Amino acid sequence: MEEIKITPPHGLTPAEIDVFWMQYAHTLADKAAQQGEVPVGAVLVLDNQLIAEGWNCSIQNHDPTAHAEMMVLKRGGEKIKNYRLVDTTLYVTLEPCPMCAGAMVHARVKRLVYGASDFKTGAVGSVFNLVEDARLNHQLRVESGVLEDQCSQQISAFFKARRKAHKTNKALAKKNHTNESCL
Ligand code: ZN
Repeated sequence: MEEIKITPPHGLTPAEIDVFWMQYAHTLADKAAQQGEVPVGAVLVLDNQLIAEGWNCSIQNHDPTAHAEMMVLKRGGEKIKNYRLVDTTLYVTLEPCPMCAGAMVHARVKRLVYGASDFKTGAVGSVFNLVEDARLNHQLRVESGVLEDQCSQQISAFFKARRKAHKTNKALAKKNHTNESCL
């Protein structure tokens, strides 16, 4: 596999570095949308270097666990040859679900940065909070709302387009059905 070497430009503030990586994750989420998947993108960063990137590919992989975060945790582990991803930061465009939040705790990810909140299944404060729970043996540092508007618009636009396509298909099916019954 080709070696990925992506680092933010020198001289950025920590907040600007977060935006840099979130922008990158956002472009990965676009890839997911182009493939008909819910647009969520993620990157895993260690020492300001990209060690893994991923996007949702559950539908095409027939894999309910193939969320963007799971992809980067798996690839990150393979890359650094360790199932503990100590000192890494995971950037993701949408607040993680319980599965991904749990996996991040297992992986000992140091810091999580996410874009849009997920008020239906978010497990970093919106519905549950699995990554800052003192009952578990690891807690992550969390930064939320980085490029929030951009990330949340990306998701809304995807679902809006999907609803529209669904409506068109239904209308077409109805029309075809009507034609058939006229024969
Ligand atoms: Zn997830």
